[in-house]
Amino acid sequence: MEKRVGFIGLGNMGTPMAARLLDAGYALTVFDTREAAMRPFAARGAKTAASPAAVASAADTVLVSLPTPDVVKQVALGAEGISAGTKVKPFVDLSTTGPRVAREIAAALAAKGIAPVDSPVSGGVGGAVKGTLAVMVSCDAARFAELQPMLQVFGKVFHVGEKPGLGQTMKLANNLLSATAMAISSEAMVMGVKAGLDPQLMLDVINAGSGRNTATQDKFPRTILTRSFDYGFTTGLMYKDVKLCLEEAEAMGIPMWVGGAVRQLWHLAHSQIGPDKDFTTIVQCLERWAGVEVKAKS
Ligand code: NAD
Repeated sequence: MEKRVGFIGLGNMGTPMAARLLDAGYALTVFDTREAAMRPFAARGAKTAASPAAVASAADTVLVSLPTPDVVKQVALGAEGISAGTKVKPFVDLSTTGPRVAREIAAALAAKGIAPVDSPVSGGVGGAVKGTLAVMVSCDAARFAELQPMLQVFGKVFHVGEKPGLGQTMKLANNLLSATAMAISSEAMVMGVKAGLDPQLMLDVINAGSGRNTATQDKFPRTILTRSFDYGFTTGLMYKDVKLCLEEAEAMGIPMWVGGAVRQLWHLAHSQIGPDKDFTTIVQCLERWAGVEVKAKS
């Protein structure tokens, strides 16, 4: 019988990733609490399901791309959750949940005969559309060999370890750097603009010099200088990732001084600009203080 893949969570990341699976010829069953998110998939021949349990009874492998650890837990282990499904074997979590929740879910699913696979991703919506994400997988070697061809549809696949949660630790380390680059580049750019520098010229210099990073190379030119603020990742999700990282470091007894300052600035963006706004709006906190905008000259 045809192998079927389940996909739950058709948001900014899930939609392009699930679409790439369809493009690659996988038979999909999808579920999202937003009916509208499922419609384009139904139109392309995917089956839609009424609950995570229904997906897990229809599909051999289930992937999820969900916003928060609590939602992933509910979808995996709740009454109508994946653990109530009759068919699924591997459960592949593409979300950022942190290692502790990943371990908790892994233990509960393993007890039901479902193989947990951590597989958070990095590279943004653009990377999800193009299939150029970094995919950080932790699971046993045999399971990795089985899943690798499918995960390659999303981008570059790394087997980071066997222990549940290691993929999540990898992802938190990556996102702490991404969050820091965004925060500190906002401070540097606002200072320069206030002093009278042209922001495009600043980016040209920084990106030819040693200050370049993912914010100056990609986020500032694409969504801040243009004032579109539409990178496709919310401040709420970035703040969640930084918090998860610092909580994890604290639990391990690892100090993170710079990380603590970065968390404060994201907290400010979260409370002043709003959790549902694009994460590139963090620059607006600094702009308000300085009374300038980091905007391309027209
Ligand atoms: P999103 O909020 O755009 O999408 C989440 C989707 O899950 C939505 O469609 C929502 O309707 C659905 N959903 C919520 N609760 C549900 C439930 N109980 N059952 C079924 N569906 C439910 O989020 P996103 O930006 O796509 O991010 C998804 C995950 O990927 C997050 O963990 C995020 O941290 C991570 N991530 C995001 C990016 C990015 O650039 N956006 C990059 C890497 C990783």
